[in-house]
Amino acid sequence: MMKSKENLQAESLSSSLTQPRHDMHNQWPRAESVEDFRENLAAVKLRIEAACQRSGRSEKEIRLLPVSKTMDDAHIRLAYAAGCTELGENKVQEAWGKAQSLADLSELRWSVIGHLQSNKAKLVAKFASEFQALDSLHVAEVLDRRLHTEGRALDVFVQVNTSSEPSKYGLPAEDVDAFMCQLKPFENLRVRGLMTLAEFTSDAGRVRACFKRLRQLRDRLSESHGAMALSMGMSGDFEIAIEEGATVVRVGQAIFGARLRPDGFYWPR
Ligand SMILES: *Cc1c(COP(=O)(O)O)cnc(C)c1O
Repeated sequence: MMKSKENLQAESLSSSLTQPRHDMHNQWPRAESVEDFRENLAAVKLRIEAACQRSGRSEKEIRLLPVSKTMDDAHIRLAYAAGCTELGENKVQEAWGKAQSLADLSELRWSVIGHLQSNKAKLVAKFASEFQALDSLHVAEVLDRRLHTEGRALDVFVQVNTSSEPSKYGLPAEDVDAFMCQLKPFENLRVRGLMTLAEFTSDAGRVRACFKRLRQLRDRLSESHGAMALSMGMSGDFEIAIEEGATVVRVGQAIFGARLRPDGFYWPR
């Protein structure tokens, strides 16, 4: 269906009003029962649907990846019972521990979404089904070799630094094309898409600009590298990410409740 100019204008007006919710930081209520998890998941899905409607997209295009970092086994079991069958973790050691103690949850798949040192690549190759923070050729080499030994394959996303904050991980946008060409020989890595973290700010315009940069990069690269997923958006900003084309949103606190430590503890500063 063609959209009228007025419609498009109304849409871009309404989406320019979508604000990040970093004010909710440390205020998401902790989920303590399967019912709490069901409610939180339903609320997140409603927000996803609303963002899709504003941007003329279908919610079927969006994959919700629940993020369980810092949450203990008991809470993860409740989340699983409420339907979370894939979980994102940003620290490999922590994820590996959970993968072992929760091995009886047969449908559970693990996605490592945080920076990886090459000496930990071995672990990722053992249990993860996805790695979303690839930004080093050396790590790619080690992963590919270990995956070969394990007889496994791994879905990977290339992490891009869209905020130009020097302390953040991820490749500068201009290096991604060459990097993706260098990944081609690695038979056990399946490059699925691009991932980014937006600038952590309540300035919606700056958050949106990060997501827009990733989408534009994907659009340019897809001519030579084919279709790619876009992993962008977290509890505080996933609506903006969806409006800008996200196909994977990584949501922790809005599902599990607030983490006890501030995000600076998990992320490089
Ligand atoms: C923690 C984390 C998320 C989720 O953040 P929430 O605020 O809990 O939604 C998403 N992506 C990455 C890389 C993370 O480390």
